[in-house]
Amino acid sequence: MDCLFCKIIAGAIPSTKVYEDEFVYAFKDINPIAPVHILFIPKTHISGASAVTAENAEVVGKIFTAIAKVAAELKLESGFRVVTNCGEDAGQTVPHLHFHLLAGKPMGWSAESGV
Ligand code: AMP
Ligand code: ZN
Repeated sequence: MDCLFCKIIAGAIPSTKVYEDEFVYAFKDINPIAPVHILFIPKTHISGASAVTAENAEVVGKIFTAIAKVAAELKLESGFRVVTNCGEDAGQTVPHLHFHLLAGKPMGWSAESGV
């Protein structure tokens, strides 16, 4: 499949791995917008949040479990943000479901900037 993140999971494109289990892969974002910027993706191809269904939703819980584990390991005690962009208006650029873990600085909140 011609999907950037499927290629990263397969090892065909290099990435800096932060976490991996049977269902989830996490790696450093190549263009970080916060001191901590990690992407969490399912190992199965799901195109985005709008493609989550009763049949494939279990992996979303596994991703959030992985996020909590990594946040604890990185001692993100002062807080973190989890973001998923879905579709054009939200600025989704890679059509494989991914959750951004952002941390390491105080973050504002607006629909325009996100961070
Ligand atoms: P989004 O804009 O929400 O679809 O997020 C896609 C993210 O993937 C962006 O933050 C990019 O910086 C990141 N990205 C794109 N290519 C790579 C890559 N090869 N390795 C790591 N992160 C990437
Ligand atoms: Zn994919």
